[in-house]
Amino acid sequence: MPLTELIIDGFKSFAEKTKIEFDTGITGIVGPNGSGKSNITEAIRWVMGESSAKSLRGSNMKDVIFAGSEFRKPANHAEVSLIFDNKKGELNFKDDQVIVTRRILRSGDNEYLINKKSVRQRDVRALFLDSGISQESLAIISQGRVDQVLNSRPEERRSLFEEAAGVLHFKKQKEEAKVQ
Ligand code: ATP
Ligand code: MG
Repeated sequence: MPLTELIIDGFKSFAEKTKIEFDTGITGIVGPNGSGKSNITEAIRWVMGESSAKSLRGSNMKDVIFAGSEFRKPANHAEVSLIFDNKKGELNFKDDQVIVTRRILRSGDNEYLINKKSVRQRDVRALFLDSGISQESLAIISQGRVDQVLNSRPEERRSLFEEAAGVLHFKKQKEEAKVQ
């Protein structure tokens, strides 16, 4: 499923609205230590529904908002959008282009949007889980995660493969149906 663009505004070190375009094939992001490479992958996980501030190296979710620097005022909100080309219908959504946005204000108010319409966090998660990608899946492997996967228990590892294969969504639905 082609991810075509990432727009980061006020998230972590991205004080100004920054657009990153992805071509077909592999995209490499290079830069010196502390220049914001990990912040980019964190922005992607965040918009996909990450709910742990700790896994984004903060103590509160509001910590993702640009905190200001010597020359710049702190931002009053953070906003990240992922833009997908959905002409082949790989995302279970009717439109040819799917824009997933997450926004957080200093007040702590948090909002998710799909194609500019307000949705719930679970709608965003379901959209990605359906396609075999989620913010916890093997689609995004952060620093230290390789060791964690190799050292995990077989059941945990199985769950990762199930998610990658796109079957975890059906399993979750089945569990929900059992409870009802
Ligand atoms: P490395 O090569 O060492 O892994 P990196 O390119 O991955 O570095 P990041 O960890 O993405 O770098 O960026 C770290 C920078 O982001 C630090 O300078 C830190 O001060 C800055 N940063 C993190 N959160 C915020 C925030 N809320 N506001 C402003 N700057 C922030
Ligand atoms: Mg890094």
